[in-house]
Amino acid sequence: SDRLTSVLQNLRSKGRLTDADIDSTAREIRIALLEADVALPVVRAFIAQIKERAKGAEVSAALNPAQQVVKIVNEELISILGGETRRLNFAKHPPTVIMLAGLQGSGKTTLAGKLARWLREQSHAPLLVACDLQRPNAVTQLQVVGERAGVPVYAPEPGNGVGDPVDVARRAIEEAKRAQHDVVIVDTAGRLGVDEELMKQAADIRDAVQPDETLFVVDAMIGQDAVTTAEAFRDGVGFSGVVLTKLDGDARGGAALSVRHVTGQPIMFASNGEKLEDFDAFHPDRMASRILG
Ligand code: GDP
Repeated sequence: SDRLTSVLQNLRSKGRLTDADIDSTAREIRIALLEADVALPVVRAFIAQIKERAKGAEVSAALNPAQQVVKIVNEELISILGGETRRLNFAKHPPTVIMLAGLQGSGKTTLAGKLARWLREQSHAPLLVACDLQRPNAVTQLQVVGERAGVPVYAPEPGNGVGDPVDVARRAIEEAKRAQHDVVIVDTAGRLGVDEELMKQAADIRDAVQPDETLFVVDAMIGQDAVTTAEAFRDGVGFSGVVLTKLDGDARGGAALSVRHVTGQPIMFASNGEKLEDFDAFHPDRMASRILG
């Protein structure tokens, strides 16, 4: 952020760092994080860690005290964001099942297409599965995305009524084995808000397909509101990783820091645009730089 950048620049021009310097810097960093929409408990924990490390830090010959604080802030941010990029877990016996969960509008269906395309480029043979049978257009939307990704979509036959998503998921796994797809990506229904029926349905699908990865898809633009949603999905369905979407917007990292801190699950992918190519593994170091401005 601009504020943080100027604080750190002030530090850069100073000589020795006193306790008072560390305190006033911590105060500025705290404000910057709150402005980036990081949840308050997360900010508190982070600031405490920074102060602890800054005060205990040995004076380095290579860096002046200001540079040391900058280094500590950056390192702690990267660490809270997960350190290294966490890669997908593939099943020993294919197909690997990846289930997607998240609120409607979070970018789940788009993400399904992006992930499918990304896997295909890495010589996998994914199958997309339409288990969002609530929203009238959801199946068609997944088919459009699948076509763009060059990946087939398993969906209930039209005209057969609404269909049971658990049943569709189960049959899709059989189809994947038959047609030798090594990865199955299951798109599930999302509502506008968290609701029990949605959670139960997602949990039923989870029990039926036993996913190797359950990815919680969350819109980065919702900032610290992501905490409540993430907690609801953690308790209702459980997940092994997080995908942040809409990072092409002006989201400042509040969602990333907060979700990571509150759920302890790694952020694995970043979605940053409407095109299928706008997608990459999540890099904690890049997000840290973005937060620091
Ligand atoms: P779902 O309801 O969770 O399946 O969400 P969709 O995949 O339908 O996405 C909702 C809207 O967000 C659509 O208009 C998408 O084009 C858009 N969208 C999805 N991902 C991104 C992204 O990374 N960046 C931007 N700018 N828009 C996105």
